[in-house]
Amino acid sequence: MDLYEYQAKELFAAHGVPVLPGRTVETAEEARAAAAEIGTAVVVKAQVKTGGRGKAGGVKLAETPDEAQEKAGAILGMDIKGHTVHRVLVTEASDIAEEYYFSFLLDRSNRTFLAMCSAEGGMEIEQLAVERPDALARVPIDSIAGVDRAKAAEIVAQGKIPAAVADQAADVIVKLWETFVAEDATLVEVNPLVRDPQDKVVALDGKVTLDENAAFRHPGHADLVDERTEDPLEAKAKAKDLNYVKLDGEVGIIGNGAGLVMSTLDVVAYAGEKHGGVKPANFLDIGGGASAEVMAAGLDVILGDPAVKSVFVNVFGGITSCDAVANGIVEALKILGDAATKPLVVRLDGNNVVEGRRILDEANHPLVTQVGTMDDAADKAAELAAAGA
Ligand code: GDP
Ligand code: MN
Repeated sequence: MDLYEYQAKELFAAHGVPVLPGRTVETAEEARAAAAEIGTAVVVKAQVKTGGRGKAGGVKLAETPDEAQEKAGAILGMDIKGHTVHRVLVTEASDIAEEYYFSFLLDRSNRTFLAMCSAEGGMEIEQLAVERPDALARVPIDSIAGVDRAKAAEIVAQGKIPAAVADQAADVIVKLWETFVAEDATLVEVNPLVRDPQDKVVALDGKVTLDENAAFRHPGHADLVDERTEDPLEAKAKAKDLNYVKLDGEVGIIGNGAGLVMSTLDVVAYAGEKHGGVKPANFLDIGGGASAEVMAAGLDVILGDPAVKSVFVNVFGGITSCDAVANGIVEALKILGDAATKPLVVRLDGNNVVEGRRILDEANHPLVTQVGTMDDAADKAAELAAAGA
């Protein structure tokens, strides 16, 4: 789960990372009041879960409360890379002498954590990473040893942070590591980490991604979820303990087991090329126990996606036998009734496949087509999606 900047900075503050005071508001009038309360020049910042807000015009300086109201009015409702701005953070403005870049992240390909640090932070960091990668230090972090003062000092030195603020920067980095570990984050990024004219180091922006697999040990993290921006279908799937991921094509995909579902995505994308480029619309892993209830819940989620033009149910019977899955599909279609409107292509194989296919044949549901192989079924699903698009 990605956090908003204001949430990230609240976590930072809780772990002793220096941030500037601010308030999050939803109207221009409230922005004016917040600026008046802060009593200095402020920065009005769009709260959306995407980067590049500064370049998009979503970060604006305001000298007075009147100006804060005006700037908030312009930013609220703005669209930044497909994210609508519902809230702005009004925060004390900082004078900036220098902008640094810092992050901790999970480096999956190297199976380690990684610190990234540069004295040349700010809005051009992506360009820096491409054009002068040497200016962005990458320091692997041993997960057991973690980051103590000595390690932080090493990171600071490699990032070429100036000596005058090196100690302070190292302190901040140790606290950011504490945040990363204590909150079970997979990303903690500060860009810019600024040095002000008085040589004080402050986290001016914050990006945090929390590991949802660790949610069980952070009851407080549930409060950080913003239902307004959560996909309603993902929320529905989560409530029913289904693994659902939204994609941007037209073929809904239900399978059992992550491996089968992943290969189904590939097969559908490949078959889709022959049918005008249709692609998977989503995928849903119903796991081992494909009971009627689970199948109904899964179909309900998949069919709730208006982008879905056809559904491919691809099940390999193992512990759950094909007859149970077939019964599940038949019952699910009964439960859904008129809510089921899109054609279903079903491919069953594995344990008790003959009985499973017989059950579906006998039910003879007008929406269901059975196909014997995965490739042919993918082709049929793609064809139906193209016809229904
Ligand atoms: P992002 O573009 O989404 O990463 O948003 P940031 O929070 O990083 O802000 C973008 C840029 O706005 C920063 O790199 C700063 O240059 C500038 N900025 C942000 N806050 C302040 C502030 O308090 N004072 C000043 N002078 N500039 C700021
Ligand atoms: Mn930033």
